[in-house]
Amino acid sequence: MSTSGARIVLLPGREASVLRRHPWVMSGAVSRVDGDAAAGDLVRVLAADGTTLGHGHYAPQSQLRVRMLAFGDEACSEAVIAERLRSAIAARAAHPLLADTNALRLVNAEGDGLPGLVVDRFADVIVVRAGSAAWLERSSAVADVLREATGARAALARPDAAALRREGAHAEPRTLWGEPPSEPVALDERGRRYLADVAHGQKTGFYLDQRDARDLVQRIAAGRRVLDLFSYTGGFALAALAGGAAHVTLVDSSRDALALARRNLQGLGGAAEARAELTETDGFEYARKHARGFELAIADPPPLARRKADVPRAARAHKDLLLHLFREAPPAASVLAFSCSHHIGPELFRKIAFGAALDAGRDARVTAELGAPADHPVSLFHPEGRYLTGLLLELRG
Ligand code: SAH
Repeated sequence: MSTSGARIVLLPGREASVLRRHPWVMSGAVSRVDGDAAAGDLVRVLAADGTTLGHGHYAPQSQLRVRMLAFGDEACSEAVIAERLRSAIAARAAHPLLADTNALRLVNAEGDGLPGLVVDRFADVIVVRAGSAAWLERSSAVADVLREATGARAALARPDAAALRREGAHAEPRTLWGEPPSEPVALDERGRRYLADVAHGQKTGFYLDQRDARDLVQRIAAGRRVLDLFSYTGGFALAALAGGAAHVTLVDSSRDALALARRNLQGLGGAAEARAELTETDGFEYARKHARGFELAIADPPPLARRKADVPRAARAHKDLLLHLFREAPPAASVLAFSCSHHIGPELFRKIAFGAALDAGRDARVTAELGAPADHPVSLFHPEGRYLTGLLLELRG
């Protein structure tokens, strides 16, 4: 691991959040760099008075200047990182909420004390998503530990291009070990069978964070006409059909996602497949024009507020979506709505839903609140790690 002797010295007063174990040092908190530090180096972070605050990965071009890995005088060796990886994996294996699935997030970045690093497991294939140059540099050390701890057949590196761009870095996907699958991988999630395109699909190939929400959909879909808006490869649609939905409409703008959704539906066999319909179009437009008649509508749009400045516009987009879904819904319909931006959390999202219900003239109540499942742990010291909010909204009259 490249360690630099460099020291990142903070401005007076800017040590407070690091002392509270928040893992991000922003560029505006840095007073100066003593010594030479290159992108990805492990650097020491000091308060203005010279106190050591800890160690972290340095990103000289990013606003997120240091990602802290160790606080105070805690050690931050390669052995410590290896131990964190192993303990993240062991925590999933032992977790009662994570049984019955062979697709799991094994490492959830800050939530597992490994800022910037995501590792997903899909059956016997591992996908490593590095969100910083530091992890790119350490990918073979990470791969060694993962290989040993998981015994997986193959692993792919699929770097997070957008996150790396913010650091002025770039990396191509590559094989870490084994023979990467040339076909989508077959998953078994609580009895639901999915194919995940781990090499080309969005992010690491499959949205593991909606597993608990898929369970919920399976339980409430019986006999209902269901809309799976922003369906991707049909995660919710298949859960609804498994739960006995009368009919499911999948809507997504991605042709590739719908092509795999089609294969997923075919896997269910004729009768279930015949109860599904796929539409490649803009989801917001679809809601505006065709939301009528759905007894259960699921709306899982992409992140609409990546930055705080996006919040007003994103809130309007969410409200607009909900307004159309509420307005056109039959009596006693349910709407399962998601925000996957931490800037639009449960409180604001409820307010947005409230505004939409008021404007639609519908009486709605929240009967369940959802978040990401137990393989997406959130550090209490890093509340920004909680990005997914789901509300089950039930209409009356
Ligand atoms: N519900 C899915 C995940 C959805 S991710 C699951 O559980 O697997 C968001 C999806 O929205 C992606 O599939 C993306 O292709 C799609 N998308 C992004 N912008 C869109 C738009 N304007 N209209 C329709 N789909 C869109």
